[in-house]
Amino acid sequence: MESAHQYLAAGTIAVQVAQFIRNLGHAARAHIDANYRVVCPLVARDAGLGEIGRMGLLMTPELGPRVRIGVVTTSLPLVTDERRRDYTMIDFCTHCRKCADVCPSQAISFDDRTEIDAVRRWRIDSEACFTTWCKLGTDCGRCVAVCPYSHPDNLLHNLVRLGVRRSALVRRAAIRLDDFFYGKRPPSAELADWMDVEPVSDGAAAYDR
Ligand code: SF4
Ligand code: SF4
Repeated sequence: MESAHQYLAAGTIAVQVAQFIRNLGHAARAHIDANYRVVCPLVARDAGLGEIGRMGLLMTPELGPRVRIGVVTTSLPLVTDERRRDYTMIDFCTHCRKCADVCPSQAISFDDRTEIDAVRRWRIDSEACFTTWCKLGTDCGRCVAVCPYSHPDNLLHNLVRLGVRRSALVRRAAIRLDDFFYGKRPPSAELADWMDVEPVSDGAAAYDR
């Protein structure tokens, strides 16, 4: 539900920005959920908002994969700034693999990044992911739920985020500490166990209707 709300919010903003630019006399197009002509995570990465993590989503240092994106392309001349790369997130994902561990469809790779369409990133089996959503009858999101970057924006987690950006040692420790304090599986998986869900196939699970 929260994802849907944020797709709607991002779409609303993108449509308004595009209309504003058109009113200035320049071409502009909003790219919003179900109406994309660009790959939004790659555009956001090129804009310096974050990096593409192991689960194939844009991850920002502050919010991890908990972001939904709207894009506006335009002919309006703009002043551009330098793209800031954050290699610490790539390093964290290289050693973490927590999302791949909990993915019921094995859609997330355990391997290193490869060159895909001239971009070095992790290969995601989006068809396997979507097939699982169809079996479940709803979105899955276990990868987002279990990601250490998904923790709330508070003092303690922000201190850890600071350390993670500065030290490889802290990154390795943070992966282990995340397992220790939050477990290796997302809370939704524990809830599913408790609600007596049964496996469908390939490790996927669905509610016993
Ligand atoms: S769970 Fe770990 S490997 Fe997966 S995206 Fe998050 S940090 Fe990267
Ligand atoms: S949403 Fe679920 S099935 Fe899809 S990649 Fe994430 S964990 Fe795997």
